[in-house]
Amino acid sequence: MLSRREVLFLSGAAAASGLAGRIVPGWAAPLRYDLKANKLTDGIWMVAGRQEAITRENGGAIANIAILDSEAGSIIIDTGPSRLFGEALARLAGELTGKPVARVYNTHFHPDHVFGNQAFQRDKIAAPKGVIDGLAANGSGFSDAMYFIAGDWMRGTDVITPGHVLEAQVEDFGDRRLRPLAMRGHTSSDLVLFDESSGFLFAGDLVFLDRAPTTPHADIERWRIALANLGGIPHRRLIPGHGPAEDNTRGLDQTRRWLETIPPLIRDAFEKGLDISEATALPLPEWTSSIALARYEFERTVNHLYPRLEAETWPRVDGVAQ
Ligand SMILES: [Zn+2]
Repeated sequence: MLSRREVLFLSGAAAASGLAGRIVPGWAAPLRYDLKANKLTDGIWMVAGRQEAITRENGGAIANIAILDSEAGSIIIDTGPSRLFGEALARLAGELTGKPVARVYNTHFHPDHVFGNQAFQRDKIAAPKGVIDGLAANGSGFSDAMYFIAGDWMRGTDVITPGHVLEAQVEDFGDRRLRPLAMRGHTSSDLVLFDESSGFLFAGDLVFLDRAPTTPHADIERWRIALANLGGIPHRRLIPGHGPAEDNTRGLDQTRRWLETIPPLIRDAFEKGLDISEATALPLPEWTSSIALARYEFERTVNHLYPRLEAETWPRVDGVAQ
């Protein structure tokens, strides 16, 4: 029970700070991720990311997360954008499986996939060395950006690198066997996981479906090779990093089509002499109209590809040999 003096003090402080009688966004609404687990098959669930860019409204919950049950405990693929999300995810995995966490994987170093790491024991978080190094190198820059964009959702979030360097060809969890596959293309190190028991392929951000791929850290040629390799793995269902999990090749096809169409379109614009603002205003192919964030990611790609093309193509005018 508050004393009369305390009540007066609190209301006075509220009035003094301008909070009395009005709702302040971000103060009034409790920050809570409402995670919904979609059951894909027995013992496998997906928490679907929103097909959006990271905003203050969605708290960065835009990437797909998977939870798998096994005799050895729950297995979690990616941890989401913040400490708060990671904690909600850990609770959800416990409710679904009734077991402690056996393993957490990080598919790549992007913050929407790994900033929930803090909610898990570090030695249980596994990733290839390239993912760990990428997170160590880029984590603080990503963290600044995430706090700036997503605001209070990020409160208390620290960058935690995985404590287990993943080198094994096979990971056994009693009745479940996963094959980690080290690839690259979306970033310098992308982890794909194939679950032998279900035939499910967890492709991370090498595959985007109904949402435009992000390319700021991409090597387009290597990404296309990775897609060809993924297509060669017989699988029953593919879980993309963003977009619906389907039992067809739509995700692979659409990502490939984007990579084969959009970067050449930008290169062509550059070669025709269009400046950066003219290039960003170019019309996109009709088939991209049903893809979320097509224009947004196209503009981002123009903005990071143009400086590269300029560096590659334009001669130096200061007489220094290149
Ligand atoms: Zn990514």
